[in-house]
Amino acid sequence: MERKQFELGDVVLMKKQHPCGANEMEIIRMGMDIRIKCVGCKHSVLIPRAKFEKNMKKVLRSKQSEEDNEA
Ligand SMILES: [Zn+2]
Repeated sequence: MERKQFELGDVVLMKKQHPCGANEMEIIRMGMDIRIKCVGCKHSVLIPRAKFEKNMKKVLRSKQSEEDNEA
């Protein structure tokens, strides 16, 4: 099984849609729990890492690669 890779600042695609209709979230804090911010309505939620890994589908944009592209 492949372990999911994600970093602070990444925008990820979630399996479940946020009530506002968006399913993209930005990782704004990492730790035992992960704080993610909805790209659609800017609402942030704190969820346990295990739950995040289960609900997250894939990384859409990594902060690192975005910076590389703009340079
Ligand atoms: Zn939302």
